[in-house]
Amino acid sequence: MTDTIFHKIIRREIPADIVFEDEHVIAFRDIAPQAPVHVLFVPKVDVATLNDLPASQPEVVGRLAIAAAAYAKREGFADDGYRVVINCNGHGGQTVFQVHLHLLAGAPLGRFGTARDS
Ligand code: AMP
Repeated sequence: MTDTIFHKIIRREIPADIVFEDEHVIAFRDIAPQAPVHVLFVPKVDVATLNDLPASQPEVVGRLAIAAAAYAKREGFADDGYRVVINCNGHGGQTVFQVHLHLLAGAPLGRFGTARDS
């Protein structure tokens, strides 16, 4: 079984600031926030990267997006807007190999998607 820091959070072996949880998804504040609101949405099934998401299971990532939008509405910043990001592997900047969706909000966000040295 894959074991990452996020699996340990799911199993309550290490603490996290959990803001949402249901049968399929857990969401908690990023320990190194990159925006005033920075929450990670993580599935409870093992999927290391977006590359590993089975075509037969689009709901795994779909649920992350639904949960993120619901959180944005509940917290009152959905209309102002927000960004969701899934990093994949080295060039994407992925550091924890359990797929997860970043929700960034709380202020106008800068541009993104440019190569580091361009
Ligand atoms: P990524 O680089 O897309 O794999 O994102 C991993 C994210 O997990 C980073 O933004 C980290 O700051 C965050 N992170 C790492 N450890 C923890 C933790 N114990 N609790 C909350 N967030 C964490």
